[in-house]
Amino acid sequence: MKYQYKNEFRHNLVEWFNNEKRDLPWRHTSDPYKIWVSEVMLQQTRVDTVIPYYNRFLDKYPTIQDLAYAPEEELLKMWEGLGYYSRARNLQAGVKEVVEKYNSVVPDNRHDISSLKGVGPYTAGAILSIAYQKAEHAVDGNVMRVLSRVLLIEEDIALPKTRKVFEEAVEMLIDEKHPGDFNQALMDLGAMICTPTSPKCLLCPVRDYCIAFNEGIADQLPIKSKKTKTKKVQFKVYLAADQKGRYLLEKRPSEGLLANMWQFPMIEINENSMSDETFKHNYNVEIKEYIEEQLLKFKHVFSHLTWEMDCVYVLVEPKNDLPGDALFLTIEEIKTLPMPVSMLKILNVLN
Ligand code: SF4
Repeated sequence: MKYQYKNEFRHNLVEWFNNEKRDLPWRHTSDPYKIWVSEVMLQQTRVDTVIPYYNRFLDKYPTIQDLAYAPEEELLKMWEGLGYYSRARNLQAGVKEVVEKYNSVVPDNRHDISSLKGVGPYTAGAILSIAYQKAEHAVDGNVMRVLSRVLLIEEDIALPKTRKVFEEAVEMLIDEKHPGDFNQALMDLGAMICTPTSPKCLLCPVRDYCIAFNEGIADQLPIKSKKTKTKKVQFKVYLAADQKGRYLLEKRPSEGLLANMWQFPMIEINENSMSDETFKHNYNVEIKEYIEEQLLKFKHVFSHLTWEMDCVYVLVEPKNDLPGDALFLTIEEIKTLPMPVSMLKILNVLN
């Protein structure tokens, strides 16, 4: 890849970063563990949302050993509301490996750090460059957008193989003396100036070296093919109270989406389903009364899937033992359990 403004681009970008960088809590440390936590939280989540979680999380788990042996239920509670809970589990598994295999020192090379659970090429590069000042690429969506414009790269960024093109571009451009600043500068430029729509080119520190700007086609890049449609699944959710005013809750399976989180019983609605019958049968309860037929109706969108939730409020009476992972609990008890955002929304209605 040839680019004649390599030095000018690098210089202007890092200088701009030093003057304009956002003051973020993880920028006050070079501890690889803390940078790792911040990078995992920032995946798919906005900076403003992450800041309070990051601060609380590190108050609770200030060292890598603290996190490695934290009880899973407590960890999920700390992560509650951030979504993508497998990130928390993978982070803990990766951290535990560091404690047990690397004597609590996060590896400082791409080979070893990439072997840790949950550490992909982006996270590896971010930790290596920011904590250890290694000249390693850290390519995320922001970086791909910026560089597709600066270097006029017209490959489809929705295709996994395209990442390689951008990793090579970063290797060609990176500031060997300040690799952490360089990578963070690219991320900040993408977040603040070179935004997905209406990039603020007139404020951009690298405008003079941006090929797409100079050709007047910045807003046509990056090239990104459309994602396939997300799947929709409809559920009837039962807020099922017993005579003592406790609610029926169950723990999700230990594998898959929202593993080990707690939820109100949900029955999938499809053409053949008799949801009340299925509910009564699955949980060994009798429905004594419908208190609200439509307590709440909403959609919850995951990256690949949408849940359409129709919530009802019923009074029930247990007939037999509840199934293994189900319990009747008071509101106070429910509040101590890790629950996904969709369930917290329902819990809010009860408060
Ligand atoms: Fe992005 Fe415009 Fe700057 Fe080019 S000039 S990097 S398109 S903000």
